[in-house]
Amino acid sequence: MTNPDRPWGYRDNTHGKNPDWQIHPDTASIRAGLARSGFGETGEALYLSSGFTYNSAEEAVASFADETDHYLYSRFHNPTVAMFEKRLAALEGAELCAATGSGMSAMFASVACLVSQGDHVVASASMFSSCYVVLSEILPKWGVTVEFVKGSERADWEKALSRKTKAVFIETPSNPMLEIVDIAMVSEVAHRVGATVIVDNVMASPILQKPLEHGADVVMYSATKHIDGQGRVLGGAILGSADYINNHFQPFARHTGPNLSAFNAWVLLKSLETMGMRVERMNSTAGLVAEFLSNHPKVTKVNYPGLKSHSGYEINTRQMKGGGTTLSFTLKGGQPDLFKMMNKLVVIDISNNLGDSKSLITHPASTTHRRLAPEIREDLGISDSLARLSVGLEHSTDLIRDLEQALG
Ligand SMILES: *Cc1c(COP(=O)(O)O)cnc(C)c1O
Repeated sequence: MTNPDRPWGYRDNTHGKNPDWQIHPDTASIRAGLARSGFGETGEALYLSSGFTYNSAEEAVASFADETDHYLYSRFHNPTVAMFEKRLAALEGAELCAATGSGMSAMFASVACLVSQGDHVVASASMFSSCYVVLSEILPKWGVTVEFVKGSERADWEKALSRKTKAVFIETPSNPMLEIVDIAMVSEVAHRVGATVIVDNVMASPILQKPLEHGADVVMYSATKHIDGQGRVLGGAILGSADYINNHFQPFARHTGPNLSAFNAWVLLKSLETMGMRVERMNSTAGLVAEFLSNHPKVTKVNYPGLKSHSGYEINTRQMKGGGTTLSFTLKGGQPDLFKMMNKLVVIDISNNLGDSKSLITHPASTTHRRLAPEIREDLGISDSLARLSVGLEHSTDLIRDLEQALG
């Protein structure tokens, strides 16, 4: 929820017409953060400018000393990027948001800004493979130890967490196994040792799950997924308290430069306006597709948190509005039959993205998750017969018909 004192966010220029009530997130997604120029444009302006000018040398001094609210340089901030950040923060109910150039730069910076040599990080093992590489290979090079646990097991978390643990990283639902981690449970255990809980909320999207309401401290996104949702640009975002963003994230990011470009921010800003409608439709269609697949004789297992048969169903109904837009499933004939089926699809595309308006199917073991060692893939359940399906905005009857003919 947005601050009722400034429902549209700061730096607004809405002709002084600001509601004095707490606005609904749906309204925030259309209007929060809007900073109109003197021209009074309806469409948000795209400020393609690397730098900014000052009226005097003294104004430059005051700007660099942070004594005045003035843009300096687009590596630090930019008016279009700021509109996107404020709109997403209002939608998420976070104090502040910082946009980044990709989901991975958000993920890396969200953890890296908290840790130094000798520190400890604990993460749930089921996650997107690049995040796994950052935690298992890159951070350890700098003397940070990272421990992976089974995310659903409270006892495992309690055993792994200690005073040395600076950050906890969880992805729920996870990519591509759709495993569920109880955000409230992990936050409670982690806060006892003073660790910061970071949630990769990419699979759920800001529409279906609000980790901060369940006790998490930081939320990160690949904006490439549901936020753009139309297959155009890469982007990322980190949301959290003013203390985390201003005192941890910004001192790290201002000098390492993972910032989002103004053009991509403008695309993502306009995408936020339709994200709610898109994600709700994709979520309900995914439920129908999951139902269809789970009743198909050639399908051996469907992983979808919206199905009662899913091990995380109960927890998920408490923390997420629906099962999400993505599911994964295994086929009887293993990889050869799965590839045959994928090649027969005429509506659904073979691609490795997700959260897109176009339905996309992928074979994680040989593409997105091929970088993981075979034994780790096996541990995570990413078998050769597993397909991940991101359900888009096409009509459910066409998607089900396409799967039916391809499976036939
Ligand atoms: C795609 C993805 C990322 C990385 O985002 P990019 O925008 O591709 O860098 C991180 N986490 C999850 C769960 C993802 O699906």
